[in-house]
Amino acid sequence: MKAAVMREHGPPEVLRLEEVPVPQPGEGEVLLRVGAVGVSYHDVVERNGTYRSDMALPVILGYEIAGTVERLGERVQGVSVGDRVCCKVFHSCGRCRFCRNGMETACPERRAVHGGYAEYVAVPDEVLVRLPDEIDFAVGCMLGPTVGVALNAIRDTARVQLGETVLVSGASGGLGLPSVELARAAGAQVIALTRSGEKAAALQELGAHHVVVADGRDFSSDVLEITGGNGADVVIDNIGSRVFTPCFKSLAVGGRYVFVGQLTKEQISINPARIFFRRATLLGVGSVRSDQLASAVRLVRQGTVHPRVAMELPLAEVARAHALVEAGGQIGRIVLRP
Ligand SMILES: [Zn+2]
Repeated sequence: MKAAVMREHGPPEVLRLEEVPVPQPGEGEVLLRVGAVGVSYHDVVERNGTYRSDMALPVILGYEIAGTVERLGERVQGVSVGDRVCCKVFHSCGRCRFCRNGMETACPERRAVHGGYAEYVAVPDEVLVRLPDEIDFAVGCMLGPTVGVALNAIRDTARVQLGETVLVSGASGGLGLPSVELARAAGAQVIALTRSGEKAAALQELGAHHVVVADGRDFSSDVLEITGGNGADVVIDNIGSRVFTPCFKSLAVGGRYVFVGQLTKEQISINPARIFFRRATLLGVGSVRSDQLASAVRLVRQGTVHPRVAMELPLAEVARAHALVEAGGQIGRIVLRP
């Protein structure tokens, strides 16, 4: 089969199409024929080595996978040959105290899914969620790391209530777009924070009531003005340290600050008194559970969320896909069709 193999970290060109053997599904594993694989910014930092530079090479990247079950390994449960499926981000053991208490994403034995930049990939059956026929693979592949994680943040971690105000940072990114739609669907007033004004119209189309252009400045006065001086009840922070200070200043008294993403290695610094004077709650979101991914699939099927595919490219153009994601001009996912 053809696969984009990475033998060293570096620029997009280190991803080279090679002929490699089709993987054999082991016990509890399933061989998928890859229908589509998303290219995320996470893939970019894994490729250029700023993140997880201890990764064993050579490797086939790609964890946003949707496809068709081609073959079953031994002792596979819950899926059959021919099923259309999408994947969550991590495989977890299913037996530890975290897995048994609704925190499978914190499983100490969790292993990241990868290998999707290929015609076939072997994955554990535990990571799979059924994808109905109406949802295209190009949309299905990205659901776990985008809609699934956003649902974890908005519904299950922040527990956004009808009538609250939610500030979403990185609103035009992979996590931000579904966060805007889900917060709107939850009945909140949504303030979308984005780096450039060019994406404002698209964000309003998705349901943002207000768009604030961050542009490296202190935008908290804009948020306070929009909210009549109260600030946002919930901050869904998909960016992290780069916007933390103005985002925290935008938080209402008694608000919840939800950490979802961190794009750089920069630290944040805050006087603890600012947290207790604001009666703030700090919350961390980690990845997506199976049941959350299944909910994400239902929300897309019923038309509540509309994940955007910016562009579909053949596997041979994987380096171009990485260059485009790194440049960051598009709205929605760039997806490879192996
Ligand atoms: Zn576990």
